[in-house]
Amino acid sequence: TEDSAEGGAATEFPEGSTMAELAAAGEVTIGTKFDQPGFGLLNPATNEPEGFDVEIARIIADKLGIPEEGVTFTETVSANREPYIEEGRVDYVVATYTINDDRKEVIDFAGPYYQAGQDIMVAIDNPLGIEGPDDLAGTKVCSVEGSTPAENIRESYPDAELVVFDVYSTCAEALKNGQVDSVTTDNVILLGLIAQDPESFELVDNPFTEEPYGIGLTKGDDEFRTFINDVLEEAYDDGTWAAAWEETAGQFAGTPEPPSVDRY
Ligand code: GLU
Repeated sequence: TEDSAEGGAATEFPEGSTMAELAAAGEVTIGTKFDQPGFGLLNPATNEPEGFDVEIARIIADKLGIPEEGVTFTETVSANREPYIEEGRVDYVVATYTINDDRKEVIDFAGPYYQAGQDIMVAIDNPLGIEGPDDLAGTKVCSVEGSTPAENIRESYPDAELVVFDVYSTCAEALKNGQVDSVTTDNVILLGLIAQDPESFELVDNPFTEEPYGIGLTKGDDEFRTFINDVLEEAYDDGTWAAAWEETAGQFAGTPEPPSVDRY
């Protein structure tokens, strides 16, 4: 049919737009996490990441008319997401990436496509009785450099002893071997780590921030941002968003309502 994805030639994107360029190239490079079960976790058997963020990224690539073999995932850890976008090393980032004003100074966000909240993971049976962020005072709490949860602990809970690594899987190891007393980040990231090792970890389950997840893209590319927002709304309406959730993070976290996209 004329809508065949071959080269994307049949899709009428405005000349010179990011969509037209990516469609013509038939290739896209996407930043995501590689160590977060349910969102972006590298499958060593296929060498491809899997999870809800990966599915969202693929839905967008598909609407660009890019064939599956043209989609390349690159690991973006929390701290290098903005630089990778600014340097053009990735075309967009889908990586449990909270939309906020600081980040919007250097990049733009489509979405949100999910809303998480910062929470705390402790060792099984919660030996220190940590029930919320105020209980972190005088304890060692692990998070990731360049993340909003680490920033929030630094600013609002300075009596907590913050330990930072580059990725959350390292924080989980540190909790398991007793180097730290807890791990803090978004509740759904923690639920993924708990699902992998339910004998060792539990969630405090008292979220204390709002973390709307967006798709990071080059600042000022309003055409591309609008395109992605349209794709998200279509995916809400035609059930692909819900199906992506059910197959991935929905295995360990309840099914949410999709949030309204913010066309700022
Ligand atoms: N959503 C938060 C952030 O974007 C924490 C998760 C992460 O580090 O990817 O900073």
